[in-house]
Amino acid sequence: MDTKVALITGSTSGIGLGIAEHLASMKCSIAFHGLGDPNAIRELVESIQNRFGVKCQFFDEDLNNPENAHTLVEQTVQTFGKIDILVNNAGIQHVAPLEIFPLGEWEKVLNINLTSPFVLMQAALIHMKRQNSGRIINIASVHGLIASAQKSAYVASKHGIIGLTKVAALETAQTPITCNAICPGWVFTPLVAKQIEDRAKASGKTFEEEKLALLLEKQPSGEFASVEQIASLVAYLCSDDAGQIRGAAITMDGGWTAQ
Ligand code: NAD
Repeated sequence: MDTKVALITGSTSGIGLGIAEHLASMKCSIAFHGLGDPNAIRELVESIQNRFGVKCQFFDEDLNNPENAHTLVEQTVQTFGKIDILVNNAGIQHVAPLEIFPLGEWEKVLNINLTSPFVLMQAALIHMKRQNSGRIINIASVHGLIASAQKSAYVASKHGIIGLTKVAALETAQTPITCNAICPGWVFTPLVAKQIEDRAKASGKTFEEEKLALLLEKQPSGEFASVEQIASLVAYLCSDDAGQIRGAAITMDGGWTAQ
């Protein structure tokens, strides 16, 4: 990995940050990306750069505007000279019944979870095809395979990215470039903590009670998948051994979709 350059969207938090740390530990250069407090992010990126002795750069394009996705790839290539790995990880959630789901929230979820990854893949593939190598890994969800109530935009976006993953895999099938999706179940990150907080507000129960209830409703193992477990699967998909895994949607969901 020590000559590779990885762009990981949404790597200032949660799963994306775990993937960035894991790839940096394997000596990969990291294009960090996401939103948040610039000073805290600068400190975070510097600490990873110093800890692993790899080149890191932070970019803050807002992916609610898909045109920024193209700029993000071009900035990565300008800074590092190439792009070997694209991890489409940035994502948001909005929970509401279908008949009152706000159109603005639908558009935002689709922009960040599906349209920007599409533009990122378009831009990255031009460079990857030129260099005749590359890995694209889309962090989808179990909600790319099955649905849950009140998550219309999220479920539509995640089903969409799995379809897009398959198309990219077919269009690169006779090249060394691969494209796959990972479908996590519950992973304890800020995105999920917010859903638990909302449930606790609505039910009057404690955060810990709602955390357990959320897990037990869907995930038979009763345990969260960890950020490190997902990061290690990403690293495997980036390896030569994974060269014939193409267009797959790999679950890591504690048995959620086995039911
Ligand atoms: P998170 O909220 O911890 O991190 C989301 C990241 O996306 C952050 O870095 C944030 O800055 C970035 N982001 C959000 N809006 C953005 C925007 N407009 N422009 C640019 N960046 C933006 O979330 P997470 O739980 O780590 O989720 C990461 C991915 O994993 C998402 O695609 C999510 O759908 C998926 N996923 C998460 C879980 C889970 O249980 N946490 C389960 C399945 C799938």
